Amino acid sequence: MLAVTAISLTLRGAIYCPSHFGINRIENPLILMANLDPGTPFPLRVLGAPRQVLILILYDSKTAIAIRYKRDYAEDDNTMRGKLVYPYSDALLQYEFKKDHPLKPDRLKLTYELSKQLGLLDKVKQIEPKVATRQDLELFHTPEFIDAVISCGKQACASLRYGLGTPDNPIFPRIYDAAARYVGATLEGMKEIMAGASNAFCISGGLHHAQRSRASGFCIFNDIAIAIMQLLNKKKCKVLYLDIDAHHGDGVQNAFYRSKDVMTISVHQSGKTLFPGTGNVYEAGGAEGVGYSVNVPVIPGAGTIELVRILNEVIVPLFESFRPNLLVTQLGVDGHFMDPLAHLAYTSHAYETVINKMKDLTGEYCDIGWLAVGGGGYHPVNVARLWTLFLALMLDEEVPQKFSDDFILACNNMGYDRCPEGMRDNNDVEQMYYSREDVTLDLDRQIRKIEEIIFPYHGL
Ligand SMILES: [Zn+2]
Repeated sequence: MLAVTAISLTLRGAIYCPSHFGINRIENPLILMANLDPGTPFPLRVLGAPRQVLILILYDSKTAIAIRYKRDYAEDDNTMRGKLVYPYSDALLQYEFKKDHPLKPDRLKLTYELSKQLGLLDKVKQIEPKVATRQDLELFHTPEFIDAVISCGKQACASLRYGLGTPDNPIFPRIYDAAARYVGATLEGMKEIMAGASNAFCISGGLHHAQRSRASGFCIFNDIAIAIMQLLNKKKCKVLYLDIDAHHGDGVQNAFYRSKDVMTISVHQSGKTLFPGTGNVYEAGGAEGVGYSVNVPVIPGAGTIELVRILNEVIVPLFESFRPNLLVTQLGVDGHFMDPLAHLAYTSHAYETVINKMKDLTGEYCDIGWLAVGGGGYHPVNVARLWTLFLALMLDEEVPQKFSDDFILACNNMGYDRCPEGMRDNNDVEQMYYSREDVTLDLDRQIRKIEEIIFPYHGL
């Protein structure tokens, strides 16, 4: 009979151990160790929430292999999993199509200001985003399209073929640098995760409409597809991409349509009533990726009840059966009832439920981590308080309900006086657009189709 001994101890000093992407230095780790024959299935489960746990299999007194990290936030910077990574600098504000364009850089500026005022940025590792290299962009985009963006930045141009110079995507000075810096921000977040960080929140990222050879829907380059490609080039693993923006995540879906390494789930207002027009449940993936593109369209007026129901009946079962190594979430907030562009009625409570669940599931399944990006959201103050709330949830920090006078002053100074009432919505929203009965019946139908078309590929 196999003799198994297990001990736990806190080691003073540092140890080195292999991770997905190399050797990591870990300070003062709490270690659970078991003495087993090589190849024996590991019997221990780690319970509770210690700061950092390594499970090591000891082959002999000198050789150990770390098989799993329990991720949790560590108290100091020097630790392997470290702080949440937050790529931000004011240089990101240069991504501005026109003064009257709905994608306003103030969304980012106000989010940053509010998060800072609430002390949340003291808990993160802020990094300055670099401009992505051409080589990075070519992980997803064609050289011809990249050339078109470069040349449009030098002179006024319109190229319908490449989606540039259109009303959605007007040309602006230094468009190439600005768009490549957005990619750089998300890519830096991904690289930090690949180097051992648990999670990152890139508020400037989430340009999910950009296609391989065409700008689309305010998106020049697709930071999400590029970041995922970067990871997959380095490591064979499974990525779950969850997109709760009001618009279909078409660019990311298309990028991985034939892959079963990346499952894309997009919850969005139906393409029958909103850009980009795609995202019905029958777009289920191609070739070996059939069953790995998941679309949940909802009709105008769908709100908190629907989003939470989709979470419980579609997202969680697929998450648990797919068991991704990395979660990527596109957290566009244009589905909020205050948003001027779409016609959904989510509240802060809906988003909070989704994010808390993703946090739990990531802790349980995702050994590589969680990359969160921003996305849509066109009421800048509303965006700022929601993304700040999301950051607080990811950090396990409390935030006060009332805005500080400083934040209200910052809003007023930037010309925004129609403020939400506080960090979280107070009341339920009155039914908008379609009746509640119609919204429910339509979602019943969509979920039934998903259960028929998608679930059988996952043993559900
Ligand atoms: Zn959107």
